[in-house]
This record gives sequence, structure tokens and C-alpha cells, in this order.
Amino acid sequence: MPARAAFAAFLSDRVVDARVDEPLALHTTLRIGGTADWFVRPRDERELADILRAARECDVPWRILGSGANILVGDAGVCGVVLHLGRMRRRDGTQVQAGYSLSQLVKETVAEGVSGLEFLAGVPASIGGAIVMNAGGRYGEIAQSVRAVDVVTPEGDVRRLSRGEVPFRYRSWGLAPGHIALAAGFQWTPDPGTRARYDAVLAQKKATQPLGSPNAGCVFKNPPGRHAGRLIDEAGLKGARSGRAHVSRKHANFIINEGKAIAADVHRLIDLVRARVNERFEVDLELEILTW
Ligand SMILES: Cc1cc2nc3c(=O)[nH]c(=O)nc-3n(C[C@H](O)[C@H](O)[C@H](O)COP(=O)(O)OP(=O)(O)OC[C@H]3O[C@@H](n4cnc5c(N)ncnc54)[C@H](O)[C@@H]3O)c2cc1C
Repeated sequence: MPARAAFAAFLSDRVVDARVDEPLALHTTLRIGGTADWFVRPRDERELADILRAARECDVPWRILGSGANILVGDAGVCGVVLHLGRMRRRDGTQVQAGYSLSQLVKETVAEGVSGLEFLAGVPASIGGAIVMNAGGRYGEIAQSVRAVDVVTPEGDVRRLSRGEVPFRYRSWGLAPGHIALAAGFQWTPDPGTRARYDAVLAQKKATQPLGSPNAGCVFKNPPGRHAGRLIDEAGLKGARSGRAHVSRKHANFIINEGKAIAADVHRLIDLVRARVNERFEVDLELEILTW
């Protein structure tokens, strides 16, 4: 049996939650993107390990999708299997699985009066995606309250890495591609000021970000010592458009899907922004969003 057919047979025999040709626009906050050959939601670590083994044996490429809040999926979609860890979402005190919602965890810790995650108010993410991207902002990064991360290594072994063994940096956990975040252990400290900080961060986000329209957060990383949004604004690009996508007037580092944008619209806008900012400030903007 050809390898792809063998993988399809494995999924239909052994995996409950597997879909074929699933539109990824349904699973990204930008609401853009073609289909995945297979879209699979493993029930637990064992099923995840079985799927990874089968994919390796059948030479089928795989990717992990969290909440899809930082990804621009191409119009042609992606080959292979997209693994979504949304069914792996248990929380046991400070130990939280990758599929758990970050915003839910933030709200819970605020209600519990412990500090550590309140500055991530308004960041849409799964715990896995937040760890891998080292989500954060002007008040700090998730890495600061991480105690340990459970990972699957590219060789398929499960390991618990202490905070010091994960080389977190700006918008990345720094581990080689092929690692999967399974869960994170956190350390939070009781602090009566947590709710006030959470409310302040959320209010600031609502005032400055276009949260009502499909987007993927900041498109570009801040260059050292500079603000990508400010550079884009000063290059006169607020409102610049391509097809059905435009640069937000509220926050110049956000690209908005007006409803029917395609990935090609967004890519053209990204190229325009990069070229103009480079022309004006001699700065090369680097993408923060990931392109699939
Ligand atoms: C309105 C809005 C506001 C935002 N504000 C912020 C902000 O203030 N700060 C900030 O940092 N980001 C922000 N973002 C971007 C986004 O929320 C973060 O990057 C977030 O961490 C993405 O998490 P996710 O679960 O959606 O990951 P995805 O976008 O699904 O995936 C991101 C990357 O992580 C990988 N990945 C996901 N889960 C796993 C896993 N378990 N194991 C291995 N790899 C995995 C994916 O393969 C992909 O490479 C914002 C986005 C939006 C839409």
C-alpha cells in the first residue's frame, strides 16, 4: 500500500477525531487559508505518539496548530497532517496541558488572586502556542512564570525540561523545530494587585487594538529599540490595502481581513510594508506571524 494510503488507513482505523481536507480558515484568527490534507485532534498523549509514529513511518509531514492566532495559512493549504491539541486540555493546579486556553487560564489565575499571567490579558492562544511563541508584551513574557515544560522531542521521547533548559527568547521558546509542547508547569505568587493590573492591560488592549475584526495580532517583530507599529505608521501605511485586506488604522502592526481576504492579499501587503519601511528607515522588518 502506498505510504499516504497507509496513513489514511491508520487514521480511519485507529483515530476517532480525524478530518480530511479541513479548511484551516476555520481554525485561524485571520480566517484565511486553504485546507489541510488531514486535521486530527488526538485524545491524549498516547494517541498523539501513535499518530506521530505513523506519520514518520509513512513519511507524512506534520504540524501542530494551537489557537491559530499567529499563523497565516497559504491559499494552497498545507500538505500532510495538522495536529490540533484542543482535546488535551486538563489543568491540575499549576500543571496545565498544551490545549488549554490561555485566556481561560489568565482569568482563572486572576480570580484566584495569583500573579504571573495577568499581563497576558487579551492574548488569544493555547498554552502550547503561548509557550512556543513566548507570548508577551511590554509588561513581560510567559517564560517568566514557567517552572517546567513537558515536551516531545523530535526523536519521539517525552521529557520534562526545567525553565533553565528552555532557551526562551523574544517570541520564541528557542527549541529546535520538531519539538512539541505537551504541558507547562507554572509558578504564581499571591498578589492582591493582580486584578487591577489585569483590568488595566485589558483596557489598554481594547483601546489600541482592532479586536473586533479578524487578524493575527502583530504581523512584525519589534526591531531592537524600535516599534514596528510606529515605523509602519510613520511610513504612512495605516489604511494601505491589498484586495480585501488592509493595514489597521487603529494599530499599524495589525493586518485586517475585511471578510473575504485571501492569503495572497496579506502577502502583498506584507511585501509593501517591508519595502516602504526599508526605503524610509533602512530597517528590515522581520515577521512575527508564521506563514504556512
Ligand atoms: C488580537 C490578537 C492579539 C495578540 N496579542 C499578542 C500579544 O500581546 N503578545 C503576543 O506575544 N502575541 C499576541 N498575539 C499573537 C498570538 O496570540 C500568540 O503568538 C500566541 O502565542 C499564539 O498561540 P496559538 O495557540 O494561537 O499558536 P498558533 O498560532 O496556533 O501557533 C503558533 C506556532 O506555535 C506552534 N505550536 C502551537 N502549539 C504548539 C505545541 N503544543 N507544540 C509545538 N508547537 C506548537 C505552531 O506550530 C506555530 O508554529 C495576538 C494575536 C491576536 C489575534
